[in-house]
Amino acid sequence: MDMVKHMIATLQAQTLDRLRHWFDGSYDPRTTSTAKSDKESMEWMMCNAMKAELAMSKARETNRDLETTFMEVQWEVAIELGKILAETIDPAIAGTDGVKIEEEEGGASGICLEDMKKGEEVRAMGVCGHKFHDHCIFQWVKRKQNCPLCRCALEPKKYTF
Ligand SMILES: [Zn+2]
Ligand SMILES: [Zn+2]
Repeated sequence: MDMVKHMIATLQAQTLDRLRHWFDGSYDPRTTSTAKSDKESMEWMMCNAMKAELAMSKARETNRDLETTFMEVQWEVAIELGKILAETIDPAIAGTDGVKIEEEEGGASGICLEDMKKGEEVRAMGVCGHKFHDHCIFQWVKRKQNCPLCRCALEPKKYTF
C-alpha cells in the first residue's frame, strides 16, 4: 500500500516538475504543443484513478465507506508528494540526509553547541557527513550554502524520479 502511494506521488511529482517549466518559459505546452499538455492531464487523471482504486481496495479490506477511505488516500498521497517536492526544491533538505543518532553520546551540534542525544533525528551534510539539529542547519543554510564545521559546499543531490 505504501509503495503504491509513493509511486503515485512520484508520478505526480514528475508531472508537476514538467509543468513548473511553464513559469520559466522553457516549456509551455499551451503554445508549443497541445499534445504535451494532454500528456500531463492524462497522467494526472491516471493518478486520480489509481488513488480511487487504492481507496476501493482499502475500503473493502477495512469494511469502511469509500468516501472516507478515498479522502484518507488523497491526504496520504499528498503528504508523500510534499516530501518528494521538498527534497527536490529545498537545498537544505536536498543537501542533507535525515539520520538518527545511534551513539550514546552524539556529540554537539556544531551550530548551537548543544548535545545531540541518542535516538534524536538530525540532519547529516551530504558531502562531509557532519551532523546538526535540523532547525539549526535549516537556519544556517538560508544564509550560507556550506557546512558550518568544515566549510565544504552544500551540494543538493539531484532527486531521481
Ligand atoms: Zn543545534
Ligand atoms: Zn562538514
